Amino acid sequence: MSASNTQPALPGDTEVVVIGGGVAGVSTAYYLARAGVPVVLCEKGRVAGEQSSRNWGWIRQQDRDLRELELMIDARHRWAEIVPELDEDIGHVVGGIAYLAQNEADLARHEAWLEGAKTFQLDSRMLSSAEVDDLIGQSGRRYLGALHTPSDSRAEPAKAVPAIARAARRAGAVIFEGTAVRTLDREGGRVTGVVTERGRIGCKAVVLAGGAWSRVFLENIGLSLPQLAVRASAQRTSPAPLISESALGAPDVAIRRRQDGGYTIARSGAAGFDIIPAAFRHFWAFTPVLKSRWRILKLRFGRPFFDALGQRRWDGDQMSPFEITRVLDPAPDTVLLDDVMRSAKTHFPQLADAQPIERWGGAIDVMPDEIPVLGPIEAVPGLFLATGFSGHGFGIGPGAGHAMAELVRGRTPAVDISALQYARFNRRGGIVPAPED
Ligand SMILES: Cc1cc2nc3c(=O)[nH]c(=O)nc-3n(C[C@H](O)[C@H](O)[C@H](O)COP(=O)(O)OP(=O)(O)OC[C@H]3O[C@@H](n4cnc5c(N)ncnc54)[C@H](O)[C@@H]3O)c2cc1C
Repeated sequence: MSASNTQPALPGDTEVVVIGGGVAGVSTAYYLARAGVPVVLCEKGRVAGEQSSRNWGWIRQQDRDLRELELMIDARHRWAEIVPELDEDIGHVVGGIAYLAQNEADLARHEAWLEGAKTFQLDSRMLSSAEVDDLIGQSGRRYLGALHTPSDSRAEPAKAVPAIARAARRAGAVIFEGTAVRTLDREGGRVTGVVTERGRIGCKAVVLAGGAWSRVFLENIGLSLPQLAVRASAQRTSPAPLISESALGAPDVAIRRRQDGGYTIARSGAAGFDIIPAAFRHFWAFTPVLKSRWRILKLRFGRPFFDALGQRRWDGDQMSPFEITRVLDPAPDTVLLDDVMRSAKTHFPQLADAQPIERWGGAIDVMPDEIPVLGPIEAVPGLFLATGFSGHGFGIGPGAGHAMAELVRGRTPAVDISALQYARFNRRGGIVPAPED
């Protein structure tokens, strides 16, 4: 899908407007359209231009925060339901995911998660050292074991999300690229429409699925969202021998077999963080995350690379930050990626001849408790949020989209998502941080 100047005129009215053409937005539009609800999706740049095409493509239940695990299990079924509906092979392979344990501490952490998750009856289990050898064959390291979930899967994000958008279109959704939503239109506090750069669309409900931009959008209408953005980097390689169908994660490297025979290779949690004014506003909320991750976060003061994420107030007749930056495209950290490539070759000698052929950055939207925000904002009737996926929203996206479509239709989602409500940020007792990796 690409933005075009020959797009049809905006409709004057619809039932639901979805803001954002990432996996959360297109999945919401898909399920609304499938249910016969008139829906218009507005994307300021291009569908999947930001996080949703830049991620590793892991569809992972294992090691999820238990508060979102049921939704992720539902998402696994949604992927199985959506894939046959798509007009393109998105490289969806149920090959499993394994986290390799290098020391006793890694083993203990994985075993603790397994114990906590046992009521969810997943097929996750600990592999012995010998079983890891069977799974990955020749290896440069000896692992003590691994956490393995055979029902986890992978797909090519840059193909998957545009393909879901096309399926949503076929089901009746209207999708506009190059169309920023500047702000909401409200009467007596209730949502009555959106103001886009191309005009107004009247509607009864709005789903804000704006990724790293969601906080900026909400602040402009006087609502607070403790959401920050961190920069992550990834790379893909030239074709290399098959190591395992399973995506593999070790503390210093994560690899995923690609449809083109290469690998997507990166390092979990390694990220850069620009100190922008919002970081100070939400400093206390983020203290637990910063404490647990300060070793792998590169902090940077000075001129933030996403200046636009700092701007706070404008009106519907003024140009918004969403038009100034159509696609957030942070530069990758090449020093980090060189190091990650070295680690990959040490762990997996099969990659000896693999060369990095593309590198990219992505801006990940992070919440203080590292779980998403899904549901209504009570103070603004008609406004719903689907954001803050905190670095693992690709896999859960179709589940989140289904749950959002149900909520907007006034129905109860298939799984309990009450722990993910926006209201949790106003609760006394504060936010419960995610367990440490
Ligand atoms: C390097 C990297 C690796 C990752 N690996 C994984 C992984 O392996 N597995 C996994 O599950 N997740 C992974 N993630 C996280 C995952 O990519 C995200 O959680 C997910 O894509 C978020 O989807 P989204 O729809 O919420 O946001 P996005 O994909 O960021 O989409 C939001 C969209 O909203 C648009 N927008 C914002 N404001 C407006 C506005 N006012 N008007 C119109 N449009 C607007 C933006 O242009 C953007 O296209 C990774 C992320 C990165 C960066």
